[in-house]
Amino acid sequence: MNSNLYALLGLGVAVSFVMALKGLSAPKTARRGNLIGAFGATVATIIVFFDPTSVEHHNTLLILAAILFGLLVGVPAARKIQMTQMPQLVALFNGVGGGAAALVAIVEYLNLGDSASIGEVIATVFTVLVGSVSFSGSIITFLKLQELMTTRPVVFPGGRFIIAGTLAGSLATSGWVIASGGTTPLLVLAGLSLLFGVLFVLPVGGADVPIVISLLNAFTGLTVAASGYVLQSTLLIVAGTLVGASGTILTRKMAEAMGRSLFGTLFGAFTAKPQAATQAGEARPVKSGSPEDVAILLNYASRVVIVPGFGLAVAQAQHTVRELADLLAAKGVEVAYGIHPVAGRMPGHMNVLLAEANVPYEQLVEMEEINPTFPQTDVVLIVGANDVVNPAAKTTPGCPIYGMPILDVAGAGNVIFLKRSMRPGFAGIENDLLYDAKTTLLFGDAKDSLTKVVSALKGL
Ligand code: NDP
Repeated sequence: MNSNLYALLGLGVAVSFVMALKGLSAPKTARRGNLIGAFGATVATIIVFFDPTSVEHHNTLLILAAILFGLLVGVPAARKIQMTQMPQLVALFNGVGGGAAALVAIVEYLNLGDSASIGEVIATVFTVLVGSVSFSGSIITFLKLQELMTTRPVVFPGGRFIIAGTLAGSLATSGWVIASGGTTPLLVLAGLSLLFGVLFVLPVGGADVPIVISLLNAFTGLTVAASGYVLQSTLLIVAGTLVGASGTILTRKMAEAMGRSLFGTLFGAFTAKPQAATQAGEARPVKSGSPEDVAILLNYASRVVIVPGFGLAVAQAQHTVRELADLLAAKGVEVAYGIHPVAGRMPGHMNVLLAEANVPYEQLVEMEEINPTFPQTDVVLIVGANDVVNPAAKTTPGCPIYGMPILDVAGAGNVIFLKRSMRPGFAGIENDLLYDAKTTLLFGDAKDSLTKVVSALKGL
């Protein structure tokens, strides 16, 4: 391929990545943005084979076989995955991206041997360090999200010294690689960085998991950009920088929305102290009701706020909740949805779910805006949410969600929880609101419960 044509196609791909990000910034254009990005990535993959500046290609068959393998694994996984499992898939893909960039940098470093410039060695060290942290950290995030391990912060005595020691060891080994070169120190660096990634994410719990996901995403972007420098690929540098920059902005925004400082989240691992277990399972009386009881409460309300959470996604109850809201509106009840920034398991999760059921966008009210309206609200209907309404975030210093802004539903006249059991939410902590005198629990799958409430309401 002519080198001008190659450069022009590369420029087109870079522009498509920028347009993809622009499209992804609004729900209306997100689908188009996604398609433009996927198209750009496909073109970028194909033109690499025709790079006129590259030395002769080796192992083309092996590369094609690897691409085929990736397609055979990735496409069915992405197609079959439940909406509720999307965050773990993203965490896994993100980790694999960081790990792949680190491996490529190691191989390229071995290829370059003594001819590697100091800039290339520094870029390799950065890629291996950050890529390995991103890989192992993302795997721990995946295990937490998939609930294959505890979702509570894992903190052990002396942990912060071990974490600080591992980080110091990784940085010292980086200096060793830069000063002396050689394969052994680079592999030691990879090992220490993998360990640091695990130790860095283990103490993260509850509210901070979404922030860490987007931080690791930004790390992977920076890793890819650095590996682009080692491989002298402008496209990798552009794509990696875009991911790194947008991931950093998202991380800052998430931290702001959660009332966390970025510094506190980044260095929380160094300061986390072992916590006493909460008294989950302690027998305390709760008030449970029937679908008819809930229908009566709703029927006589003037204003109802629906608070959706992760359980709405699990139950796929978005259409039924809309049916209920429409029915209430037809009876003259004012209905709004209270949307917490980290409800569900990914940013914008509730907006996407409710948009699927064509809930009018103006009915979705952000947390800061809806909070002052709870005292004028007769009934709050909590559909599969827990942490985002847990008052412990305000009252219990040291608990994993302490300091996170919540939906102040306790200010409303009545609170109804639709959930299946007394199990806690993602952060693994008790919710005292479940035991409050104004709270009624309707046990069962949210979709079943809502269907029964709708039919009871129709009979009133
Ligand atoms: P939670 O995980 O706190 O609570 C979900 C509730 O839904 C549980 O009480 C569960 O109770 C109930 N539930 C589950 N399945 C069903 C069902 N089929 N029918 C009825 N109820 C059901 O969710 P929230 O949305 O309140 O909070 C989100 C949490 O996830 C926060 O801690 C947040 O930090 C974290 N997180 C958020 C991310 C994001 O980007 N949004 C990413 C990663 C983590 P039961 O089992 O008894 O039914």
